Amino acid sequence: MRVGLGFDIHPLVAGRVMKIGGVEIPAESGPDGHSDGDPLLHAVTDALLGAAGLGDIGTHFSDKDPQWRGADSARFVRETLRHLQARDYEILNLDCNLILERPKLAPFIQSMRRSLCELLGVAVERVSIKAKRHEGLDSLGRAEAVAAQVVVLLVRR
Ligand code: MG
Repeated sequence: MRVGLGFDIHPLVAGRVMKIGGVEIPAESGPDGHSDGDPLLHAVTDALLGAAGLGDIGTHFSDKDPQWRGADSARFVRETLRHLQARDYEILNLDCNLILERPKLAPFIQSMRRSLCELLGVAVERVSIKAKRHEGLDSLGRAEAVAAQVVVLLVRR
């Protein structure tokens, strides 16, 4: 078994779509970034790459590479899964924290979970997503940023 840890943070800016875990969230601002800026899918990608010892999202999908400009971050996850499948890794489970001051993410958790499970090709009970506020502290607490933390456990078949 191999454990992987992923983290991501993006500044929130006006005029960007707030997409988290592949689900659009109605909001006044969204994560800035070279791709669609989906912090959950970026942290998932890093956790999977880390568990397999395959580097990180920046080396595989550089933000200097024009092919990833405005990219749907699901592409990063799909490509990473191909690397894992080639090495016979299977996802045992994945646990995620989302840190966002507003809007409240509770109404979107189940659709994010379904979307992530579909993307990863795993049963819904293997994926957990939890939403936290930063209690007014620091950039996250001032609603200037959104962050995600992900831990994943892989097993080699
Ligand atoms: Mg990112």
